[in-house]
Amino acid sequence: MHQSKDRHFNTKVIHSGYDSKQHLGSLTTPLFQTSTFTFDTAEQGENRFMGEENGYIYSRLGNPTVRALEERIAELEGGEKGLAFGSGMAAVSAILIALTKANDHILCSKGLYGCTFGLLSLMEDKYNIQTDYSAMETEEEIRSLIRPETTCIYVETPINPTMKLIDLEMVATVAKEHNIPVVVDNTFSTPYLQRPLEKCCDVVLHSATKYIGGHGDVVAGLVVGNEEFMSKVAMTTQKDIGGIISPFDAWLLLRGLKTLPVRLDRHTANAEKIVERLKQHPNVESVYYPGDAEHQDYGIMQKQMSRGGGLISFEVKGTKEDAQRMLNSLSFISLAVSLGDAETLIQHPSTMTHAVVPEENRLEMDITDQLIRLSVGLEDWEDIWSDLSQALDVL
Ligand SMILES: *Cc1c(COP(=O)(O)O)cnc(C)c1O
Repeated sequence: MHQSKDRHFNTKVIHSGYDSKQHLGSLTTPLFQTSTFTFDTAEQGENRFMGEENGYIYSRLGNPTVRALEERIAELEGGEKGLAFGSGMAAVSAILIALTKANDHILCSKGLYGCTFGLLSLMEDKYNIQTDYSAMETEEEIRSLIRPETTCIYVETPINPTMKLIDLEMVATVAKEHNIPVVVDNTFSTPYLQRPLEKCCDVVLHSATKYIGGHGDVVAGLVVGNEEFMSKVAMTTQKDIGGIISPFDAWLLLRGLKTLPVRLDRHTANAEKIVERLKQHPNVESVYYPGDAEHQDYGIMQKQMSRGGGLISFEVKGTKEDAQRMLNSLSFISLAVSLGDAETLIQHPSTMTHAVVPEENRLEMDITDQLIRLSVGLEDWEDIWSDLSQALDVL
């Protein structure tokens, strides 16, 4: 038998981290919906707490259903150890707190998930951890912003919601010169389309709420990194802050992961069709999609992503009220934040996901009042386009 690590991606999403022979032949991973685990003897309890015997103790410290998910995501990202959290933000905060102490400095991509921006502001207010935001377009630009107290480079690519890309290999090269870990939020791409650890980044994290779950029924986060760092996180900012995932949500993610490649192929194919048509619509000012050969960062996309994925941002002509009028005219396309679900979802970043970002920062990130973010679903693309175009025609 070959090693499970040598298998291909479509096989790993279904099999990694689970062996039915160890679970009475159960085809799917059993749901261990339990808070705690019994010890055979007092000595066994002692040994488990001492780390001298493997075995479960209490579900905040580990659970078999959760462990299967953690092993699966680690294999999919090509990393040593995975950890699961109760939300994407629980994952982001556990990692950022693990990497910093008071008065440290974080270098971050310009354009960021709204709540991650909120967390960084909180860390500055409470612990004087300062953050610089950079477009990260050149090595010089990154080098010039690194300080002696920089302990983390945090990158989102594609950037939410502007869909700009950052060259991960370039960032990792500069970071290595200074021995600073690079953390990548890979939510938009998933390991099916982009694997940052293969580009020498150190930690990759996800809001698993999105494409990994894929069905709009769970909020969760996942992180993968090397054994040493992830074990430290498991024993500190995961165990003691406690943002763990529930076994049932881990079970749902294991189920969602099995169809990740099939779903993303359809999301992407649909998105490619919609982009072509959006670009031709008279009421659309601009379209941002990394898989579009005319996208400013198409060269970076070819280096590090296999395809453009299922998210499109576009600007309508007119004002904020025009953008809202268009959104109010949709029929089956759902007006909702989140992304990566079977349903096509649409939202208005400047008044929704990025409303917490002060207007001046928002405009610096190119999040205008006309910008709309579309998460293309799994419906027939002709129907998605028909709904979008009738709403755009209202303008
Ligand atoms: C949704 C999202 C998050 C936060 O994840 P939650 O699961 O909502 O806590 C972080 N980063 C990106 C890019 C996201 O889209």
